[in-house]
Amino acid sequence: MPAALTTLSDDERIFRDSVYEFADREIRPHVREMDEAAQMPRPLIDRLFELGVMGIEVPESAGGAGGTFFHAVLAVEAVSRVDPSIGVLVDVQNTLVINALLKWGSDELRQRCLPRLADRSVGAYALSEAGSGSDAFALTTRATQTSDGFLITGRKLWITNANEADLLIVFANLNPEAGYRGITAFVIERGTPGLTVGKKEDKLGIRASSTCELLFEDCRIPQQNVLGEVGKGYKVAIETLNEGRIGIGAQMVGLAQGALDHAIHYVRERKQFGKTIAEFQGVQFQIARAASDIEAARLLVYNAARLRETGQPFVTEAAMCKLFSSEVAERVASLAVNLYGGYGFVKDYPVEKLYRDAKIGQIYEGTTNLQLQTIAKHLLG
Ligand SMILES: Cc1cc2nc3c(=O)[nH]c(=O)nc-3n(C[C@H](O)[C@H](O)[C@H](O)COP(=O)(O)OP(=O)(O)OC[C@H]3O[C@@H](n4cnc5c(N)ncnc54)[C@H](O)[C@@H]3O)c2cc1C
Repeated sequence: MPAALTTLSDDERIFRDSVYEFADREIRPHVREMDEAAQMPRPLIDRLFELGVMGIEVPESAGGAGGTFFHAVLAVEAVSRVDPSIGVLVDVQNTLVINALLKWGSDELRQRCLPRLADRSVGAYALSEAGSGSDAFALTTRATQTSDGFLITGRKLWITNANEADLLIVFANLNPEAGYRGITAFVIERGTPGLTVGKKEDKLGIRASSTCELLFEDCRIPQQNVLGEVGKGYKVAIETLNEGRIGIGAQMVGLAQGALDHAIHYVRERKQFGKTIAEFQGVQFQIARAASDIEAARLLVYNAARLRETGQPFVTEAAMCKLFSSEVAERVASLAVNLYGGYGFVKDYPVEKLYRDAKIGQIYEGTTNLQLQTIAKHLLG
């Protein structure tokens, strides 16, 4: 009989529990200060590398953890239960950057980049621009062919991890006349002349995660840094993001679980009318509904991840998991604020941050409307 979706192998369970224990012990004490400073301390990032969560799918022979896509999803969920900002760092590194390199990278590019990504280098994934978000293929960053490679010129916006990243996957159009068929993916190293990290955004939520502008001015890239084929960058982008959004689903499930953990703890302590507020049936029902929502979201996320892992169609399921879990995260974080009462509204308590953090789930890696579009297209053609 097939196992329940939430049944984990021993290996998966031990991995998830160890990541959560690490997050609880080493990330939790810094969450508020990182949020207020809008900074992620490098020593903490180094600890994530040591733990093996920055190179989950990188083969052991290349210094990685030799894990699976499902392990990556579990890690993002476990970290996000404590801090969704660190969750998105782990998510972009694994489900976008390493995932794209594993699938599309030449042998040379994989040998050059994967050991670094598993050991010390943060990655970033640069598709969006000021004028092209949902309409991602309207990007205007240009690549021009030279005798030994390419020159990249343009401006990217909203790039997660840009402040910390050593290796960037950047999408540029090599042949604008061909429309989206001119889009090509490149690997660009930090320190390449012509590449500047621009303005860092001052955000509502996931504030410790850096989101920056990237400027490219005649940035010279060697021929061998093309990721996948020339003119096939649109395929790299679509396919990677289809998978990556399962990671965002996991981030949102982790966030919702974290908010519910706090709420359960609080309602058992807080007394009004001479009893704990957990004793009021009205409160119990709200908690029960939130737990049911989270379980449903987790099932969608795990199902999409297992489908992807076993080579079955998963694009609609990935859109559904991201759509649903981001809404659940907002709802549960909002309930947690409500259950904390006035204390939920102030920064001395952890839930207002999760409420702010939840909002991004409905925006990045395809907005809610774009997920609905994907699902509707599957149903209606
Ligand atoms: C914190 C943060 C981190 C990010 N990290 C990255 C990153 O690492 N790499 C990267 O490349 N990008 C990143 N992004 C960009 C993100 O993916 C885009 O913001 C997102 O895709 C939406 O694009 P947009 O902001 O241009 O909004 P728009 O596309 O302008 O959308 C605005 C509104 O219009 C709606 N809309 C647009 N088109 C349609 C349509 N056809 N039908 C119905 N409704 C529609 C949208 O749903 C939305 O509600 C990040 C953004 C943020 C805020």
